[in-house]
Amino acid sequence: MFFGKKGLGVAAILTAAALSMTACGGDTADSGSDSGESPAFEVATDVSLTGSPTFDAIKSADKIRIGVKEDQPGLGFLDAATGERTGFDIQIATWMAASLGMAQDKIEFKAIPSANRESALANGDVDLYVGTYSITDKRKGLVGFAGPYFETGQGLLVSKDNSDITSEKDLDGKNVCSATGSTPIQYIKENFPAVKTTEFDIYSKCVDALKTGSVDAVTTDQAILLGFASQDPDNLKVVGEPFTVEKYGVGLPLADTELRSFLNTTLTEGGDTWNKIYDETLGKSGTKVEQPAVEQY
Ligand code: GLU
Repeated sequence: MFFGKKGLGVAAILTAAALSMTACGGDTADSGSDSGESPAFEVATDVSLTGSPTFDAIKSADKIRIGVKEDQPGLGFLDAATGERTGFDIQIATWMAASLGMAQDKIEFKAIPSANRESALANGDVDLYVGTYSITDKRKGLVGFAGPYFETGQGLLVSKDNSDITSEKDLDGKNVCSATGSTPIQYIKENFPAVKTTEFDIYSKCVDALKTGSVDAVTTDQAILLGFASQDPDNLKVVGEPFTVEKYGVGLPLADTELRSFLNTTLTEGGDTWNKIYDETLGKSGTKVEQPAVEQY
């Protein structure tokens, strides 16, 4: 059962997507085929991509290594008990792999925190990175980006009973937590000199610090914060409006312009695929947004 350019009925598509959400398992190599379930994406069989060293390496290894997050509910999440990976980014990653001819059982997901993304791509530890990775000019000097495939903006997460912080204007003197190497921590340091900052490698540690009261707020992309809030609505809330623009790209090795164009084409010519992914993941909260236009550079 496939979706993509084939235009199957909605019921079939949703069944396929639902299966895909439960089809991943294992510690490093997630496999849909072990369970006998069908892949959710049409796996390309006639991939024409010359001049891409990354694709050549993927083909000769017969696997694709994709860096992801695994503590971000709704985006990139690993259920430690079941081994199941879920979320919008995981589905986007699986779609990208399928367009390169790599089925779900050929994907090796690797958890890589924000600060290590550029080095992981530069060192060849991963072939792609799909994990709330904002396209910035500075990063464009270190890695390539296909996309954007999603847009969000920096926001704030506070305790449910907090009434002091209602927007970024209330942060002076407060202790705000974010991930090392992320755009949000940098934005706070550059624009809010009176704000104290705490950093961890991953956002779930910031959320833990918020719950124990050792920080006053967590700041990162609102899409990430909404995922944490939805997991614990009795204790957490997102406040204010997004105050930056974050455009997510698929990270890839810097020099591989052929791969970048190829994945941009996948994103551009995917028909309804993006909408199906959105509806099955982030859109479950009832929100609806459009796929952003790809910005070829
Ligand atoms: N999108 C922002 C960034 O790329 C924050 C989220 C993250 O750290 O992954 O830095």
